[in-house]
Amino acid sequence: MNKPRLLIVEDESAIREGLVDVFLYHGFEVSTALDGPSGLQSARTGKPDLVLLDLMLPGLSGFEVCERLRAQDPGLPIIMLTARGTDEDIIQGLRLGADDYVTKPFSVTELVLRVQAVLRRSQPPGNAAQKLSIGTEIRVDAGTLTAEVNTELVALTRRELDTLLYLAAHSSRAVARDELLQNVWGYANTEGLETRTVDIHVAKLRRKLEADPKQPRYLVTVRGGGYRLLECLSQ
Ligand code: CA
Repeated sequence: MNKPRLLIVEDESAIREGLVDVFLYHGFEVSTALDGPSGLQSARTGKPDLVLLDLMLPGLSGFEVCERLRAQDPGLPIIMLTARGTDEDIIQGLRLGADDYVTKPFSVTELVLRVQAVLRRSQPPGNAAQKLSIGTEIRVDAGTLTAEVNTELVALTRRELDTLLYLAAHSSRAVARDELLQNVWGYANTEGLETRTVDIHVAKLRRKLEADPKQPRYLVTVRGGGYRLLECLSQ
């Protein structure tokens, strides 16, 4: 099996070198970039399987890098490294397309587990041609990572698509946030993990799919239960 390729974009050398050592030890092929522009360049040329992206970078901020990476490749998994206690940064990063975030200072073991989990979930699904209809006006195409809403075409990230497919596969009931973290993000143990990542991904999906994201008709919140997708049909 090929080694998974990891790109680390981090300007602080102590953190960067520590991460390089750890991921080399765990069997990754690791490349690094020290600022935003070279991070984008390395992502283009190096075709990484996952990017660890620091938020505070010289040149281009992690936000801008995240947004451009996402535009370049909607399926590329991105985990942001953020400073502790910066809620707005975390939310903004997830809005711009990061799959998840880790706050500094982080546990290296935890980070390795998360990277491995996100990579496992990023393998293209066997049924790549899967299509999903929601209500009468939404068609989701898993093969192209797009949704047609009325006649408008919107791009989905891999994580958004997997969230929809998981909710559709269990549409007879509400799905708890922990269950989504386990099955869509691949985290074996969700104890102590925040579920905000799930909520922000759901909010993004609503903005993309729902006529009124504040009063969702299909991707609904079930009080005390999690999320449920209504009127969906897999094809
Ligand atoms: Ca930094």
